[in-house]
Amino acid sequence: MLNPETLDPAALLSRLRAAVNCAPLILFATDLSGRIVLSEGKALEAMGHQPGQSTGKMAGASFPDQAWITQNIQRALAGETFTGRWQLGATVLELTYAPFYDEHGQIAGAVGMALEVSERERADRAMQFLVEASRVLVESIDFDATLRQVARLCVPRLADWSTVVFLEEDNQIRRLAVEAADPSQAELAREIQANNAIDLRQPATHGTVKVLRTGESDLVPVVEEGFLDTVGAAPTRARLLSRVGVQSYLCVPLCGRGRVLGALTLVMAGSGRRFDHKDLELAEELGRRAGAAIDNARLFRDAQLAVQMRDDFLSIASHELNTPLTPLLVRLQRLQRSLPSGEGGAQGEKVDLAIAQVRRLTRLVDNLLDVTRVSASRFDLRPERLDLVELTQAVVAQQESPLISVRGEGAVVGEWDRLRIEQILTNLLSNAVKYGGEQPIDVWIRCEDERALVSVRDQGIGIAPADQERIFRRFERAVPVLSYGGLGLGLFIARQLAAAHHGSLSVASQLGEGATFTLSLPLSPGQRLSA
Ligand code: ADP
Repeated sequence: MLNPETLDPAALLSRLRAAVNCAPLILFATDLSGRIVLSEGKALEAMGHQPGQSTGKMAGASFPDQAWITQNIQRALAGETFTGRWQLGATVLELTYAPFYDEHGQIAGAVGMALEVSERERADRAMQFLVEASRVLVESIDFDATLRQVARLCVPRLADWSTVVFLEEDNQIRRLAVEAADPSQAELAREIQANNAIDLRQPATHGTVKVLRTGESDLVPVVEEGFLDTVGAAPTRARLLSRVGVQSYLCVPLCGRGRVLGALTLVMAGSGRRFDHKDLELAEELGRRAGAAIDNARLFRDAQLAVQMRDDFLSIASHELNTPLTPLLVRLQRLQRSLPSGEGGAQGEKVDLAIAQVRRLTRLVDNLLDVTRVSASRFDLRPERLDLVELTQAVVAQQESPLISVRGEGAVVGEWDRLRIEQILTNLLSNAVKYGGEQPIDVWIRCEDERALVSVRDQGIGIAPADQERIFRRFERAVPVLSYGGLGLGLFIARQLAAAHHGSLSVASQLGEGATFTLSLPLSPGQRLSA
């Protein structure tokens, strides 16, 4: 084994030189006059120098364009130890300078080291870019805006031009965003964006058409004459593209759930920069993230359309269903009155049953109509001064159930919409009857802290804690359809109505131990009721 203590100094130095000259760094030393006595390291190449080339020369003579080197050497010779940074084009060096002391503790020269960190800096910048891009993409759920964001993010940091195209479900291409770093090119960018004629069937060995067809990226670091003939562009579009002056080119697919959704094209033109494989990797990563964001934005857009269609359908259907119900009820009530009193008997019971069924149907249809009103936020509230105790007693009486008993202290007066409060109470009471296991139901009305409270307590099947928030959502139910009929809309609407009155509706329950629903309403109108 080699022992560095016994090794000939010249042999040791040549080994050190060999190591330093294949590493991305520079080691140098000067004497007290600033004359270079050592200059080694592969990173010297970034300054156009070979290792050892400057030895014996003054820094100023060796690097005539780099006055900062002499200045730094002077600082070190004055006893300062410091670090710094130097950048020339894509090359970045991190520097450390220090004085060098002889055995008497006197400054005998300067030493320095420079580490080339260009790659690390580039990777840091790429990571920063991706983090920022992801943040922007996550925030955006508007489909077209997401695509424009992607294009905008890329200039000028990644490219001089960027384009995003999107593949529609019928394989038609929509050109959604064209961005130019140079503002004087904005008009040309608009013209390219307006020119949608991309035909996926055109033969193409490069460009968007090829990337959309194959799902593979395309990198052309140096664009040669005739490149535009290979991208499958129609003549008008080719003419527009030739005005861009493409010098370097890359295109990556935007993928979501394994499908090619579009393509991102980056172009270097005026800046003279060139793309390499690192740029391609970064663009591909952006393509993956943007693809996922575009996919989400598209799902969101589709879901919104579906919800809109459902709401439109519910709105039309409930109006249409409602129209014949009112005259039907009037006719049945007339029929009921026309039956000779005393001898109604079986006939009368049948008519009563029919009236009850029509009322039930009307309530269901009204609920459907209310759901569309909630979606469009247009409850039409007509507040009036009323006594909640009296109103609750009236609603309880309508239920015609011997199981329900009411407790209330005097009058609880406030300004609320009579019909809507009736609707909330009817819903709570009919639920208590439906899910109450034929056990007694307690209703009590009281005032607490400027609020009117009505509670409805049953002793029926109860609601598991995990379901207690869910049941207030649209179409949500916590019982099997076969055992209990219903649409799962009553509580949803009741809570929205309570909120429209600046009130609330809550539940306390345990499974199998009954449920208590409490409606809380502000006593004074305070703010205007929401319409
Ligand atoms: P529906 O009764 O038509 O299903 P609701 O919106 O009024 O719709 O109620 C939603 C769900 O909440 C019901 O399906 C049921 O699971 C539960 N629920 C409501 N009230 C009670 C109650 N008093 N006891 C037990 N469960 C209830």
